[in-house]
Amino acid sequence: MSAPTPLIAGNWKMNGTSASIEEARIVAAEIGRRNVRVAICPPATLIHRLSEALAGSAVLVGAQDSHDQAAGAFTGDVSAEMLADAGAKLVILGHSERRAAYRESDELVARKVLAALRAGLEPIVCVGESLEERNAGAALTIVTRQVKGSLPPELAAKPYSIAYEPVWAIGTGLTPTIPQIEEMHAAIRATLREMFGPEGDQPPILYGGSVKPANAAEILHAAEVGGALVGGASLKAADFLGIIKAL
Ligand code: PEP
Repeated sequence: MSAPTPLIAGNWKMNGTSASIEEARIVAAEIGRRNVRVAICPPATLIHRLSEALAGSAVLVGAQDSHDQAAGAFTGDVSAEMLADAGAKLVILGHSERRAAYRESDELVARKVLAALRAGLEPIVCVGESLEERNAGAALTIVTRQVKGSLPPELAAKPYSIAYEPVWAIGTGLTPTIPQIEEMHAAIRATLREMFGPEGDQPPILYGGSVKPANAAEILHAAEVGGALVGGASLKAADFLGIIKAL
């Protein structure tokens, strides 16, 4: 089977107003033709306008979370169907900030993945260990358990990606060593094969956590790294383009 097409996705988190649309336009204008898929995941308030601004470009628009139900009495929440209706093509699920702040469990993430599939959104499922878990020698066990618990069997043969994001590397400027990244990505790939057979070779496994233009080439060329999920450095077009062009 051919290697998965790499994906570089920007997670704007709770940042961005109308003025930020220009940054996305610059990315779309300067990205050029390359063998990489690029997505920007703005806050839900910008999904519709960003999808219109980027229509016809090579940059896809994604969401940062969705509810697992299609509609109902869930004040403040947004469903996968609503995100798709607003123009989103992908959705980040199980980000560590949501797992920590909203106690999202693997079971809930798996239900959200099903909701994304139901709405035609491509999930980016995040996993990653805390510093305490890594220091206790439990990183591989924790991440393998998250992968098994967060991916429902219905994902087989569907487009999706996994993002390995060590919690201690997010927004801190710290990154694992390349051997640590390669060890974890190999373990995730082995788990995907165990779960899905040969179809487990298809999803790209992204790395996320303090990716910057300066470290992007080294990380993106590591074994089994199929792209990146980028937080802070995706907010400015120049930085995000620097990462995309490092591939
Ligand atoms: C993230 O939040 O998904 C992330 C990778 O953040 P940062 O790049 O800022 O570490």
